[in-house]
Amino acid sequence: MRILVTGGAGFLGSHLCDRLIADGHDVTVIDNLFTGRKQNIAHLLQHPRFEFVRHDVIDPFKFEVDQIYNLACPASPPHYQFNPIKTTKTSVMGAINCLGLAKRVRARVFQASTSEVYGDPAIHPQPESYWGNVNPIGKRSCYDEGKRCAETLFFDYHRENGVDIRVVRIFNTYGPRMHEADGRVVSNFIVQALRGQDITIYGDGSQTRSFCYVDDLIEGWLRLMAQTETVGPFNLGNPGEFTMLQLAELTLKLVGGKSKIVYKPLPADDPKQRRPDITLAQKVLGGWTPKVPLEEGLARTIAYFKPRV
Ligand code: NAD
Ligand code: UDP
Repeated sequence: MRILVTGGAGFLGSHLCDRLIADGHDVTVIDNLFTGRKQNIAHLLQHPRFEFVRHDVIDPFKFEVDQIYNLACPASPPHYQFNPIKTTKTSVMGAINCLGLAKRVRARVFQASTSEVYGDPAIHPQPESYWGNVNPIGKRSCYDEGKRCAETLFFDYHRENGVDIRVVRIFNTYGPRMHEADGRVVSNFIVQALRGQDITIYGDGSQTRSFCYVDDLIEGWLRLMAQTETVGPFNLGNPGEFTMLQLAELTLKLVGGKSKIVYKPLPADDPKQRRPDITLAQKVLGGWTPKVPLEEGLARTIAYFKPRV
């Protein structure tokens, strides 16, 4: 197939491109390189079935393709809060541009949504049927509400125009090719531990997240796009749940060294708990289930960062 990946030079996008190229597809990436890097896809640039176009998804684009994966959007809180208006525009206008293209060329179109649509969840773990608890005017809203609006657009294009959509709500995913200055917790802790710097826990470290290794997530995405039973939304993630203090201690154990744990203020609206209910994905995606335990995934990610920091 001919497949368009927006945001394909980022962390998740570059892993997706590796899989799509390995599976024999023609892949076009469009990315404005805001948080992505050409080095993430450097090994693909000379490949005859791979093409990179520097382009902002806010501006319309036209490609003759069979599938579209819409990933373009900064994902780490410091990056999406750097220019919040741009973040909302990227989610909303990027979705409109992908959906308009999908409608014209009759492509199946995938939306990288997020567990952030649940906000600071009052229901735990979170099933897809939960509508969420999102502050519409806070620091995280540019991302959360942008992604919620994108989901609305996906489902309206589906209902009104018959566009063939797939929507996945991704829970915290980590692995090689995260940006060392990304600001997300896994890369922060690993880079700090490798550099012998203090490990910065925000708040008291009792808040929880569920961490999925990148390969498990991408496998779920491909199965989601291949099936025709349901359009989603699907939760994808690893239901193992850890406090940030547990994550810090595990990272320190694996890296070794002399870093100390220090406590910093908790950012506004930081969700207290998060764990996916993945019953739907496990039922529909042909036995998909996350396979890589946190300790093993962290070890692989540490091995990636070690020569780079
Ligand atoms: P990332 O920041 O590494 O990748 C995002 C990519 O989008 C980057 O290459 C960036 O340059 C590009 N981009 C940003 N704005 C753009 C624009 N206006 N036009 C074109 N390109 C643009 O983040 P990631 O972790 O790879 O996330 C990929 C997608 O998955 C995002 O949509 C994110 O919201 C979603 N997601 C990720 C996670 C996670 O844990 N990694 C969790 C939930 C959702
Ligand atoms: N966090 C932390 N130290 C850091 C970076 C993040 O304690 O150096 C916390 C953050 O406050 C949040 C959790 O780790 O409670 C996950 O943060 P991340 O930015 O990775 O993702 P998100 O909050 O979007 O799930």
